[in-house]
Amino acid sequence: MPPKSNDITGVLYESDAETLDGGLAKDLGQLKTTDGSKLQLVWRNIVLFVILHLSSLYGVWLLFTTATWTTFLLFPVALVVTALGISGGAHRLWAHRTFKANVPLRLIFLFLNTLAFQDAVYIWARDHRVHHKYTETDADPYNSRRGWFFSHIGWLCCRKHPDVVAKGKQIDLSDLEADPLVMFQKKYYLWLMPPICFLLPTVLPMYLWGESLNCAWHVMALLRWCTTLNLIWLVNSSAHMFGMRPYDKNISPTDESFLVGLRFGEGYHNYHHVFPWDYKSAELGPYSKDVTTGFIDFFARIGWAYDLKSVSCDLVRKRVQRTGDGSHPVWGWGDKDQQREDIVGTTVTHQRKDD
Ligand SMILES: [Zn+2]
Ligand SMILES: [Zn+2]
Repeated sequence: MPPKSNDITGVLYESDAETLDGGLAKDLGQLKTTDGSKLQLVWRNIVLFVILHLSSLYGVWLLFTTATWTTFLLFPVALVVTALGISGGAHRLWAHRTFKANVPLRLIFLFLNTLAFQDAVYIWARDHRVHHKYTETDADPYNSRRGWFFSHIGWLCCRKHPDVVAKGKQIDLSDLEADPLVMFQKKYYLWLMPPICFLLPTVLPMYLWGESLNCAWHVMALLRWCTTLNLIWLVNSSAHMFGMRPYDKNISPTDESFLVGLRFGEGYHNYHHVFPWDYKSAELGPYSKDVTTGFIDFFARIGWAYDLKSVSCDLVRKRVQRTGDGSHPVWGWGDKDQQREDIVGTTVTHQRKDD
């Protein structure tokens, strides 16, 4: 059971919800702010991020001019595989407990998560739980009230606000502490990460398809890492600013069309902040056709993933009608969100008797 606090701004589990359709009953608007305190820059991180981004730009040039066709074709695959370690592993499995996984699948997710190098699952999930419970306050590690740049990469270039540390210590992480695999990754992270995130993606292309050291390092190691970092950061920045809010217009997270279009599964961020325990991070049906959900569904079919949690269409409909901004799409006749009066008011001609 997560700790209850009177300044939480978002639900994390079903048990946090206070309303019938899965929200909090009180007005949270006045809580969402920042004290604007001066940020203490961490120059080591700033310098490393500048070097990483410049090296990755060189990687883009190499990808289009020098790299082998195999590298060129496998690069997008490597991006998706890396992102799965965050979206499927750290996010949906460990931070939100939206489903359960057996040991082999947890090992796969831990490997992919280490390949993504966004700190150990334990740290990532702790920060992310704080982000959901204290969204847009100074306790939110990527508080979007400090602007797009801060919520994208700026938060990693300065010391944490004291509220982030204080609330991070209060958040319940007992489930993660009870998972020996998660604690193993945390304990040996500095030994596991360099060979998995940097050495392997450099050496494998060289030995398997004869890629040059220069291309393998700059494209498959650095550019792959840098691109997935930025894609995941976009969920904290752009998906808290630009886009529609079909499920709750009173919160900052949006359904961001660029991220939705990528189909790696974290674009429906307005939905996700309303129903964070849904393993699809999206509604049922065509909305949930993304790589991460497909990956979890595949392992559910062979029994490695189980107890997949979803939200009923009825609950979603109630929430959309109560707090949505009116942008929830109706794809056509028979959509579950089609209003009763629209159905009754429609003229259907040339009807067949047996239909
Ligand atoms: Zn968010
Ligand atoms: Zn989340």
